[in-house]
Amino acid sequence: MRACPKEVGDDRCRLGSTVRRKPKGAKGHRLITRRHYRHRRSLYRHGESGFKVKASGPPYGRADDLQRKVGPMAELPVPDGMRCRIVKRFSFDAAHQLSSDPDDPHALKPGHKCTRLHGHTYRVEVIVEAAALTGPGFVTEFGALAPFGDYLKENLDHRCLNEVLPVAPTSEHVAVHLAQWFAEHVQEGIPGRLAGVRVSETPGAWAECWMAAP
Ligand SMILES: [Zn+2]
Repeated sequence: MRACPKEVGDDRCRLGSTVRRKPKGAKGHRLITRRHYRHRRSLYRHGESGFKVKASGPPYGRADDLQRKVGPMAELPVPDGMRCRIVKRFSFDAAHQLSSDPDDPHALKPGHKCTRLHGHTYRVEVIVEAAALTGPGFVTEFGALAPFGDYLKENLDHRCLNEVLPVAPTSEHVAVHLAQWFAEHVQEGIPGRLAGVRVSETPGAWAECWMAAP
């Protein structure tokens, strides 16, 4: 618990407190939740009464400082033999089930836990690399990868992967499928190059599909 940086007489408010004191003579309740307090903290300052009053400017610093223009910046080329990578993480929830059909040569043994229908919160990481940076120093602007997230949301999220993929829905197959989709639908529009896709069913286990070196 920290003390409010501005003290007004003896009426000090305490950050994190769920109840604020009211000045003498004030009417009505001045109860404010911690969450509400934090939300309003950026909009309000303390007035002389001890209550918060709406601030006329930004809560911290001067407007000029916040909007200071930045001049041209020097380029820092990526040295020969080096590459930069960016990684963007996505997630989706889905169910899957692997086969235990005795007629399937790729089936798991009957009773294997993965043959039961179950679900995961899949984590998907897309890795994009470049030997030269563009713009202010980007491999690829993160926002340019948004179509990939849209694809996950619309086609895999809250679905049974057995109905989405034409193959057994292992993490490896999901990674290959997503790398192919990215290469066909996103790659052309970005300056970086897809290096790989990582798919995790759990925080401690994942599969990766890496593109061949250029
Ligand atoms: Zn599973």
